[in-house]
Amino acid sequence: MKSVRLHGTGDLRIYDEPNPIAGDREKLIRVKAVGICGSHLHGFSEGEIGDAKLERPLISGCECAGIMEDGRRVAIDPAFLCGHCEFCERGYPNLCANIIFAGHGKHDGASREYASYPTRCLFPLPDSFTHADGAMLEPLDIAIHTIYLGKIKAGMIVSVFGGGPIGIPLLILSFLSAALQRQLTVLFARHSRIINIIGGLLLISVAIYDLSKNWDLLRLFFKGI
Ligand SMILES: [Zn+2]
Ligand SMILES: [Zn+2]
Repeated sequence: MKSVRLHGTGDLRIYDEPNPIAGDREKLIRVKAVGICGSHLHGFSEGEIGDAKLERPLISGCECAGIMEDGRRVAIDPAFLCGHCEFCERGYPNLCANIIFAGHGKHDGASREYASYPTRCLFPLPDSFTHADGAMLEPLDIAIHTIYLGKIKAGMIVSVFGGGPIGIPLLILSFLSAALQRQLTVLFARHSRIINIIGGLLLISVAIYDLSKNWDLLRLFFKGI
């Protein structure tokens, strides 16, 4: 199979390598769609993200969708949980102390033709979903969870910090979850053109600030919060 491995800053190389073999409680997936998220971009431009430094040529790519050997189409949760730590047992698997994230740290991701995943991480896709839709479910899920945590209600003015693959769904969901909402603020937006188009479609006014160039404004926002 073909794979793409990141060797260092700006250094991606294509490989021909054997297909992975699915282990116990795993399935082999033919990858059909994989996202390029902020983790990828940091890895590509800086060779690291947070505490995860690039220690070997890594196959990046976390959010993805594909086809199982029996032909079923699935979206894939790239977070592999241990299921037995304190947090998993208390019903907070998102805080798992032993979490493994595909495409991050030591664990290869989905920028390849075949990958194996734990069966519990596979979710069947309805026919109406494309594979790209399936790959977007993971960032959409984060945005939905954020809306729950933020307790967004009608009439609130919402500020979204960041206008990337999480921020944009968050922008749309903020609008959908607050019927009277007509004003949204997006901070640190790299994709201001897309955000302005979405604002136009939803008939909302979107104010975009690049706070990376204006620390006084950032202080003001946090004081406001
Ligand atoms: Zn990702
Ligand atoms: Zn755990």
